[in-house]
Formats: sequence, C-alpha cells, structure tokens
Amino acid sequence: MIPIEEAQAAVLAACSPLTPVDSSCKQMTGRVLAQDVVASENVPWFANSAVDGFAVRMNDVQLVPVELRIVDTVAAGAEPKIAVSAGEAIRIMTGAPIPPGADAVVMVEDSEIVSPGIVRLTRAARPHEAIRDAGSDIMAGHTVFVAGTVLNAAGIGVLASVNARVVRAYPRARVALLSTGDELISDGSPLKIGQIRESNMTMLHSLIEATGCEVINLGVVRDDEVEIERVLREVVLRCDAVVTSGGVSMGDFDVIKAVLSRIATMNWMQMAIKPAKPFAFGQLTAADGRIVPVFGLPGNPVSSLISYELIARPALRKMMGHTRDLLRPPVRALLDSPIIRKLDGKVHYVRVFGSFENDGRLHVRDTGPQGSHQLAATAFANGLAYVVDGTGLDAGAEVDVYVIGDVLG
Ligand code: AMP
Ligand code: MG
Repeated sequence: MIPIEEAQAAVLAACSPLTPVDSSCKQMTGRVLAQDVVASENVPWFANSAVDGFAVRMNDVQLVPVELRIVDTVAAGAEPKIAVSAGEAIRIMTGAPIPPGADAVVMVEDSEIVSPGIVRLTRAARPHEAIRDAGSDIMAGHTVFVAGTVLNAAGIGVLASVNARVVRAYPRARVALLSTGDELISDGSPLKIGQIRESNMTMLHSLIEATGCEVINLGVVRDDEVEIERVLREVVLRCDAVVTSGGVSMGDFDVIKAVLSRIATMNWMQMAIKPAKPFAFGQLTAADGRIVPVFGLPGNPVSSLISYELIARPALRKMMGHTRDLLRPPVRALLDSPIIRKLDGKVHYVRVFGSFENDGRLHVRDTGPQGSHQLAATAFANGLAYVVDGTGLDAGAEVDVYVIGDVLG
C-alpha cells in the first residue's frame, strides 16, 4: 500500500494543462485565464450620476433650503445638451452623464418641486457628491486579471465591462465516462437476483460537471475486454480524459485493469486509505500523440466517489489550468461525536456533516453507516474527515476536514 499523498503526487505529475483556446467571455464561468486582461477603456467610460436627483453647482447649495431653476433633464443613455449655470439645476437620472458646469448631484429625496420648473433643495451639497468618475471602477490600461485567474460570475461581468469579449483560456476538459459491470441495470427494468441499479455513472456525471468539465457519457459497458478496448480506443480520439467505474480490484473480472495493462501505460495502486484502496491510473496515447489519462475508479459507490474526489478531481483541475487548491484545503474542525475505527495501516475518510457554530468553529459529526457500498450516508455529508491510523477519535477532538459541499452557519 502507498500513502494517498504519493498516489496524488504521481497522478498530478503525469497530467499536464490542456492547450489554451480563444473563448467567449460568456463561456468562462469557473475557467482559468491563460492571458493577462488589460482594460482598453475606462469603466465607467464617463463621469455619471450615482443617484436620481439634480445636478448642481455645489456653491449654490450651501445655505439651504435653496430654490433653483430646472433647465433640462438628462436620462441614462442621453447626452447632456446644456451646462448648469449659477442658480440652475438639471434633473438627472442614475447613470446619466454629468452635465458641464455641475460638480455635485443632490438626490431626489432631498428635493421638492415648489412650482413647475423650480426645485427646492433641502440639504447642503458636498463637493463631488454622487458623481461616479470616469475610470472609478477600472482605469484604462490597468491589468484587471493576470493569467491564471479563475473567473467567477463577477469576473465574467468584468470581462464584458472592459469589452474583452474573447479571451485566451484553458478549455473545459472533455471527460469520457463509462461504467463496467455485468450486474448493472440502468434502464429502470425490474431487478433479477444478482443485478443492481447502476448509480456510479449518474453520480460521477454530476461530480465531473461540478469540477467544470464536459462529460461524454458512454453508459454501461459489459465486463468484456474486447468491448472495453474498442470503446476506449474510439473515445480517446475525442476526449481529454477518461473516468471509469469498476473493474480495478483483485477479482476475476477486473476488466479495466486488464485492458489498461494491455493498451496503456498503467500504474495500478493500492492506496493506504479506506474506502477506495484500489486505483488504476492509465495513460492512453491518442493517434494525434496526445496522452489521455484514464482514472480507473473502483466500483463500490463510496469508493468511487472518494477516489474521484482525491485523485481524479485534482488532476482534472490541473488539466484545466488551475494552479491553486488542486486538492481541497483542509479545515481544522471539532468532532461533536466520537469516531471509532480499527488500526489497519490506512487513513480513513469519514463522511461527516459540518456547520459553523457560535464559537466560530466548524463542528462535525459522522453521517451514518460508513461501508463502501453505503452511499446513503454520503448523501448527507458535506465533508470528509481525515482520520489517521489508530483506534479513532473522541468527541471534542480536532480533525482535518475536506469540505466537499455547502457549509452553513
Ligand atoms: P468492482 O469494482 O467492479 O469489483 O465492483 C465493486 C462493487 O461495486 C460491486 O458490488 C459492484 O456491484 C458495485 N458496483 C460496480 N459498479 C457500480 C455502479 N456503476 N453502480 C453501483 N454499484 C456498482
Ligand atoms: Mg465489476
């Protein structure tokens, strides 16, 4: 058995970032920039009003209340036609350009119309009040993002605001997914003895999408080496990585292991963790010379999820240009219930539910039966507690937790 850290390092070292491509800013959520983005224009592009109100000369609005003559109205999108002179005000809407002559905007809440064309302002104006200067968000020439930045929703909004409509970025990895097992039923038909409902493919599809990849779902492939080889040889031409479920253990029908050892460079590992001990890492060479990694996950549902999370997800993130947090950073948490385990030379990844409590700390407790076939308890988990070899931990002990889901206060 090898330590999980060794397996992670070996797989990460063998996976390289994909070639960057020109991408629409609209397709960039969660993706990584491969170029710096420099603003070519100021945002905002012109000085404009932060409120609905009256553009004035500040000196006119010091002794209040004061009455001013309304000489024009400027809406957002309109160009001011005249300047504000002494004793005058221009009605202005949020986002409209500041008319020449004005050096403050008094909000509509501090005004009343006393007669048609005359406004009374009831609060003194401050210098530059409610004026959003050109470039006050982003200055032209400023580097808004450096290569390597991961873009969130606000980030893609910023790209649009600086007119960076197409940027060079790492693509989403195209991940082929297949499930092996003659016992698997995925079409809803009644089960016969020996058959089970396929669930890993459905779960892994969701996990791969959540990683930010595109899924090429190949469905269930029978435990037939010839068929699996044919499927792998075909899909390698149109994918960047392959995730398989099942067939990597020590059984007689562990077909993924058998096929990968024949058609790929394979590193079959026995990791010192529970669940998810066996893992097959293959490297297929496509006809165009690309090396396509194959993540051969075990079939037990919880093992499948854990090894995806610990090995495949970090590698896929690296392929998509991420350099930070390839592995989830651990959070030191407090155990609210004991964890009992056996000494077996392995790290146990215990599925836990955690929430931040009044002491400001993450508190966790296990979510129920922890067998590798017992996926139900994992459905309620938002964390994986890293429980080192030993006889377990008492309530109140500290433990490192990898947060895998939403944590609420
Ligand atoms: P394997 O890794 O192929 O030896 O499978 C280990 C266990 O996981 C067996 O009990 C399988 O029936 C089960 N299993 C394998 N693949 C799946 C799947 N796609 N969905 C649910 N269970 C599976
Ligand atoms: Mg199997």
